[in-house]
Amino acid sequence: MERNIWRASYGSFPPFTCPRCSTGKLRMKKDSKQVFEPHHSKSEHGEPGWGEWDITARFICFLVCSNSFCGEVVTATGYESYREEEYGGEDGPETVTHESLQPKMLWPAPYVIKVSAKLSADCKRLLISSFEQLWMDQATCANRLRSFVEHLLDDLGVKRVVTRANGSKYEKTLGTLIKEFDLLRPGHKPALEALRNVGNLGSHGTKLKFDTILSAYELLEDALEDLVEGKRARLDALAQKLSDKNGLL
Ligand SMILES: [Zn+2]
Repeated sequence: MERNIWRASYGSFPPFTCPRCSTGKLRMKKDSKQVFEPHHSKSEHGEPGWGEWDITARFICFLVCSNSFCGEVVTATGYESYREEEYGGEDGPETVTHESLQPKMLWPAPYVIKVSAKLSADCKRLLISSFEQLWMDQATCANRLRSFVEHLLDDLGVKRVVTRANGSKYEKTLGTLIKEFDLLRPGHKPALEALRNVGNLGSHGTKLKFDTILSAYELLEDALEDLVEGKRARLDALAQKLSDKNGLL
């Protein structure tokens, strides 16, 4: 995960990896950006203390995949605001205005972490849905990640839905699923508990920091490397091979 490219605001968009072909980079289509300032923002121009930083305009633009065989088009939309900075010029201080893009949505959403082909359809859907909410609503994003973990643990052998003797069904809490999973595959409890905690806050509508969501993705990415991609098992097998003298020859 390239953590530094995921931000709440940008001077210009970084080259996100294309969500369709996974190899191309998304570049803003030339002259595609349109900006409109609403009346309530325009009407404040010139009022005492008003500055360009008070403008809250809306932008929309298109990002196009650099791979011509793919050519995916991603729509980006959100707020545009302005920030003035003063520089010392030859003829005295000069003021330069920088624009700042605060996206609310990029769609189809670029992938924050890898969406493994080994994940179930439900897990893929929930993970991609979390990416779609990254800028729109961090609480909903965290909630999607929590649901993703529930489905993942179910896929990995800890059944979420249990049938009672009388035929009725109930769902185990995520806390119970994590405890049971730790007995099967120890070593991931702290990361899974952290994701549960962040997801719970999201479920209660708590405002979450953008950075908190990025930390959740980083923990999830590391856990998936082992649980879905089998990194630890692969490395254990390599270690075993190299510890045997015959395996070195
Ligand atoms: Zn592409």
